[in-house]
Amino acid sequence: MGSAAVISGMPAGTVDGATRARTLAVRARRMKQRRQMFDLVAASYLTDALLLLIYSFTGTIPEIVVPTYIACGFGIIVGSIALSESGFYDRFKDHYLVLPTVALNVALVMGFCIWVPQIAFLFLCSLFIIFNFASLRASTSQSLICWATMAAALVVLLVFTDTPIAIPHDTLLERTVTMLALVLTLGRCMFIGMYSSAMRVSLYKRGLQLREAYRRIEELAELDELTGAFNRRCIMRMLDDEIARAERSATPLSLALIDLDWFKRINDSFGHPTGDEVLRTFAITIFANIRSFDRFGRYGGEEFLLLLPNTSREDAHALLDRLREIVGELDWTAFSPGMRVTLSAGVTTMSPDETAESVLARADSALYAAKEKGRNRIATT
Ligand code: GH3
Ligand code: MG
Ligand code: MG
Repeated sequence: MGSAAVISGMPAGTVDGATRARTLAVRARRMKQRRQMFDLVAASYLTDALLLLIYSFTGTIPEIVVPTYIACGFGIIVGSIALSESGFYDRFKDHYLVLPTVALNVALVMGFCIWVPQIAFLFLCSLFIIFNFASLRASTSQSLICWATMAAALVVLLVFTDTPIAIPHDTLLERTVTMLALVLTLGRCMFIGMYSSAMRVSLYKRGLQLREAYRRIEELAELDELTGAFNRRCIMRMLDDEIARAERSATPLSLALIDLDWFKRINDSFGHPTGDEVLRTFAITIFANIRSFDRFGRYGGEEFLLLLPNTSREDAHALLDRLREIVGELDWTAFSPGMRVTLSAGVTTMSPDETAESVLARADSALYAAKEKGRNRIATT
């Protein structure tokens, strides 16, 4: 059963609005796809009807064949459209109803083969077109069933009846129509092939869009919206990963808790939006001055965590001091006259078998010490 049917069968209120809207959108998209398919099938029937009309004009077939064929063919199409628009098709997993549709069309074609065997080749050509249409939407097993159904129909027609299958070629006009019938059959097969290839291209593009959307979701889930640094959850996970890596490779892992000095005053003096801009500029400045394998994340508010893999305590201290100088020397007056931004940081290095909590606590106490000593400085433990 399709999800639309599940929706319509559910008591009101059990399906939330978003799910319902999504289901309706899927239903509308499927209906549109089916309409396209019905248009193509109708055009194919119309082509056959025109060929039959010429055969009726040449006297190859009785006149009654043309209106009967149009009535049957368009009867199938109109009935299918009505069922599709009423939502009947959406009740099924295969919302094209490939097998019943193929069975109906094959029955029609076979009926006409037996009724007007003098142009039976034209109807047999239709089998190829029906098969091509079906394979646009059929699964492997459905394709096999379609083929078996058509094979069975051909066995009945050619082995169990002695219907003479003819290709009209008595007059020049008949030969011309016969040629047209074959050429148009090939043309329709080619067109369906092109349609299928356009569908593949569009599916490929949809796949690329989905991949990009997924990448963006992953990015949003990992990054802090304001600063573009990793968010707290992500940087904490990275800390665990880096601890494990440092233990495996027996290399030193240093880290720094960085806090902007007197940030409350910046907000109070220049406004919260300017404070946001300061945080953003600070983060960009840090990114521009760390190594590709360093990890920088927002620990909370105006506090950040910098992971420095394969870095000794001394090197970490030197790096942080350089960052402190760079941030302090930025021309913050571009934001607001008189603005000055400095940072303090607590730096530490992992000891063997230490946990993330204990190393963070040590970095935090170093940061506290840096603040106590007057800010705009780096304290290392
Ligand atoms: P200290 O030097 O001791 O760190 O002083 P401080 O003022 O920086 O520290 P405090 O913890 O008193 O204030 C931190 C301020 O940071 C308060 C809070 O409003 C501000 N803040 C936290 N997150 C954001 C943010 O996303 N945007 C802005 N504009 N301000 C923020
Ligand atoms: Mg602060
Ligand atoms: Mg703080």
